[in-house]
Amino acid sequence: MRRQPFVAGNWKMNGGLAANAALLKALLQGLGAADAVEVAICVPYPYLDQVSRLLRDTPITLGAQDLSPHTAGAHTGEVSAFMLADFDCRYVIVGHSERRISHHESDDLVAEKFGAARAAGMIPVLCLGETLEERRADATLEVVFRQLDAVLSRHGVTALAEAVLAYEPVWAIGAGRTAKPEEAGIVHRALRQRVAKEDLAAAADLRIIYGGSVKADNAAALFAQPDIDGGLVGGASLDADEFLAICRAGFGKRTT
Ligand code: PEP
Repeated sequence: MRRQPFVAGNWKMNGGLAANAALLKALLQGLGAADAVEVAICVPYPYLDQVSRLLRDTPITLGAQDLSPHTAGAHTGEVSAFMLADFDCRYVIVGHSERRISHHESDDLVAEKFGAARAAGMIPVLCLGETLEERRADATLEVVFRQLDAVLSRHGVTALAEAVLAYEPVWAIGAGRTAKPEEAGIVHRALRQRVAKEDLAAAADLRIIYGGSVKADNAAALFAQPDIDGGLVGGASLDADEFLAICRAGFGKRTT
């Protein structure tokens, strides 16, 4: 088993040419020995070209925040996985709760997007998570298993060999409210056990990262949980010092 810790920044709909260049310069200067943790940045579509150029031959990997389930054709406003691959995008977020909720993305559509990413050789970062109402109703595992099963039933467990899961409780995203490490750890362990039922080796190798108000001051405690392999970081990825501190918190994790 080898699960390299992974920290991905999700810039969401933030950025600008000058701000991106300054942020990446600070990150690249501060990152140093990056081999213990893999770092990716998921940027808005218009900045893929700029950021792809700035990250070439650096330890930071490029990602996107969404993609079309289609490969080409009459889909105005959509961006295909093959277009993302043209910019050396290695990762793409699928099923982020902001898209599941605001854009009414169903589990089936998310599974289709997952397949489109894999078909283009990209690594989907599949977001799973429950709302506050679902948590209060004790339905957390039911919800994340349903979201995961939509992908497993369509693509099979082997598809997870080139994928990352991100457990992101909806009530913790952008809320300044983080799941307690043990609370998140329980869900991560349950997700891994779910995959293990299908394939033990796939489960052992699968990276499951946590997202939801990860900050410099809570990252180490979250990442210390045995089944938390890093973080998907929104707001804090826009601040170089904060994001670097989160990446460093990933250095402490085991890599074997
Ligand atoms: C996210 O965008 O996936 C996220 C977890 O955001 P934040 O870190 O701001 O809660």
